[in-house]
Amino acid sequence: MSVIDEIKQKADIVEVVSEYVPLQKAGRSFRALCPFHPEKHPSFFVFPEQQSWHCFGSCASGGDVFSFLMRKEGIDFGEALRLLAERAGIPLTPKPQDEKRERLYRINKMAADYYHHLLLHSAEAEGARNYLAGRGISQESIIGFRLGFSPDSWQALHQHLTQMGYEEEDLVIVGLVVKREEGGSYDRFRNRLMFPINNPQGHVVGFGARALDASLPKYLNSPQTTIFDKSSIFYGIDLAKTPIRRQDMAVIVEGYTDVITAHQHGFGNVVASMGTALTEKQVGILKGLTKNIVLSLDADAAGEEATWRGVETVTRSLDQKVVLIPTWRGMVKYENEIDAEVRVITMPPGKDPDDIIREDAKAWQSLIDDALPMVEYIFVAVSSKLDLTKAKDKSSAVERLLPLVAEMKDLMRQAHYLQKLARLVEVNEGVLEAGIKGLQPSNRRGKISQERQRPLVSLPLTSPVEEYCLALLLQHPELKGSSQGLLPDYFEESKNRQLFIAWQQATELISLRSGLDVALQEHLDSLLAKALPPISHPEYVLADCVLRLREKFLRSLKTKEREVNLMGSQDMEGTELIKLQERAIEINTQLGEVFIEPRGQRRLAPKE
Ligand SMILES: [Zn+2]
Repeated sequence: MSVIDEIKQKADIVEVVSEYVPLQKAGRSFRALCPFHPEKHPSFFVFPEQQSWHCFGSCASGGDVFSFLMRKEGIDFGEALRLLAERAGIPLTPKPQDEKRERLYRINKMAADYYHHLLLHSAEAEGARNYLAGRGISQESIIGFRLGFSPDSWQALHQHLTQMGYEEEDLVIVGLVVKREEGGSYDRFRNRLMFPINNPQGHVVGFGARALDASLPKYLNSPQTTIFDKSSIFYGIDLAKTPIRRQDMAVIVEGYTDVITAHQHGFGNVVASMGTALTEKQVGILKGLTKNIVLSLDADAAGEEATWRGVETVTRSLDQKVVLIPTWRGMVKYENEIDAEVRVITMPPGKDPDDIIREDAKAWQSLIDDALPMVEYIFVAVSSKLDLTKAKDKSSAVERLLPLVAEMKDLMRQAHYLQKLARLVEVNEGVLEAGIKGLQPSNRRGKISQERQRPLVSLPLTSPVEEYCLALLLQHPELKGSSQGLLPDYFEESKNRQLFIAWQQATELISLRSGLDVALQEHLDSLLAKALPPISHPEYVLADCVLRLREKFLRSLKTKEREVNLMGSQDMEGTELIKLQERAIEINTQLGEVFIEPRGQRRLAPKE
């Protein structure tokens, strides 16, 4: 048994999930209010027999114990594996890649300790201490955020760390020391206030550094390294993740001191994006913690541009992508509603969150309470810059706002904003509606495709069809172009699903392998070594696999829905029940299609 399977077998999903949400026994399964979307009636179920979970509410998704942790903790597969291994007491042998990572974390930690010690005690750091006092930052915050001071020296840190036995090469890799082309090296951060940047697990992955004199740039960050990617991290996330989960809301600001001041005043759910635009990777971190996001950005022009970009990122990445699913009568598009709430705060001109919180914490709270829903905000922002009595400005408002309305998956919401836009530019709604049709590709085919959701399910341990299909894809690179219609959701095992996703994104085997977590590398190797019978038309075999995976997926979903339907339906809201019933009919129809149109190659893949 592979180590992944061993860990999965030892981790009881009911036990793991109940550490996050109180579970209630319901027939053979357990239920709870979904931890991933707000709801009043429980539609989140855990199935001990299948060791899987599923939300029948607006998430319409599910998976195994790994995917639950990945989503809930906002971590990747490897991290989820490590968490569960630790619980189960199964040692994971550190691989070279991990060892190197650990070494770099240690170096950063040593540097942070060194800078921190200097800030607290060295005479040279007096200016830095005064600066912090001037911004009202307390001693507890200085210690809690492990703030530091880098001395005005080209060699101090280099010397300190090499004396401790660290190699210069590693100091360069981690970005603390810079190599000169003509030979020699120097400390990157000099005479600066140091903000260690931690990943969600609390490891120091990089630094932000503020100049204490007139040096430019005013803010200097660690360069991109193997452990630091500023586009995929938030400052303060390690301290903020619990408050964010507890309050079910994350507030995103821009500056380091904004975060520190907020935490100091009891607003623990505040994090900062590094740089101006918010990225999809960053939002990915929050996705597992909350769906309520408040963006608080500067009122100045640059800030506004950043807000625009940020707003676009948030909608794109919380929205489920449109995916294709094969049917025998062509492709049907699936789409899902945005079930995230993104709101925007505009700061009063010339003020940072930092200033506002220090002046009056209540004012900050009411800014957050009054934050405008993102679309409202954009409507205001766009129309405030235009003269809507002019035809030219009217059309530029429509040009900017209509695509946004067209993006909305929720028809009520779309109708609401369409009306609003029509009133704003004093144009007949019908004209705008026609405009929307032109903007949408072909993703609106009436009610059924609107209400289709993306279900996922999971079965315990190995699944021969999933592994056969992956082995086929890996051993026949020429199939890359013919794998359309195969969805990550069809792979109910997290290890297979993750590998499939990585395979979709990779251009070749080497880059696929190097990008994987070590545990998945082993899984990849075993699939590459799997003996397949000689195949003359791999594309037919693949088509057969896709069909069988889809059938398995729909069956498993049907079983779960039946189970849930049988026991708890009396507590469900009427509309939810109807939705479930409609869904059952839809699945039956799809299953019917599978049986009505069997293909010649059907039994080539192993039986499940
Ligand atoms: Zn849910």
